[in-house]
Amino acid sequence: MKTKKSQGNGNIGIMGGTFDPIHLGHLLAAEEARERYHLERVIFVPARTPPHKEEEMLSYGEHRYMMTVIGTINNRYFSVSRIELDAPSHAVNYTVDTISRFKEIFGEGRKLFFITGADAILDLTTWKGYETLLSMCEFIAVTRPGYSLSRLKGIFDSEHSGLLSRISLLTIPGLAISSTEIRGRARQGLTIKYLTTSGVEQYILKNKLYIEAKK
Ligand code: ATP
Ligand code: MG
Repeated sequence: MKTKKSQGNGNIGIMGGTFDPIHLGHLLAAEEARERYHLERVIFVPARTPPHKEEEMLSYGEHRYMMTVIGTINNRYFSVSRIELDAPSHAVNYTVDTISRFKEIFGEGRKLFFITGADAILDLTTWKGYETLLSMCEFIAVTRPGYSLSRLKGIFDSEHSGLLSRISLLTIPGLAISSTEIRGRARQGLTIKYLTTSGVEQYILKNKLYIEAKK
């Protein structure tokens, strides 16, 4: 797939995740995608109830929202959307529904690029309405230590192999960081410095996140 030629072409990156907490892996993925694809901005979308994660395992959405705002504060191209967090409480948010709402908001003139790590893209065919999703936005799949994108071709059967053209692979410097690891370290009282931003680190310590039971 061709990359866009000029900055300010109105293309928008969307980075979905639970961000529990946001860390340098997320930020690097978004920034590399922004620069490589000349995205006008990247919108981080903290999930309210990701279909693949049990809600009770997640920190309260407002903490995740605050940490995502704090973590992205130093990048003028980054913003955070409450579109999923503010969805009706009975709604389970699927990416296909979120992207459809963004398309309504931004109109047909804007191209949307959904940014994921290698682990997430390899699961894509299990996502609700993934074919519709791929028709509405292109995907930028970034490398992530521990997950091989060489398996990507194999996830589509021959009937759907054309969908591969909607996914671009982007090699980025590998950061073997996960939110799971940060939560585990915080729980054990180990340092989380340099895995996330210092603001997010302070927020986690101040609010004693991941130490006590769910906030
Ligand atoms: P958890 O361990 O709780 O699953 P996580 O670190 O995987 O957290 P998510 O919020 O699940 O973070 O991921 C959001 C998106 O960011 C996904 O597309 C994921 O693949 C991507 N991502 C997360 N960490 C990295 C990383 N270190 N490098 C590249 N992409 C990443
Ligand atoms: Mg994850």
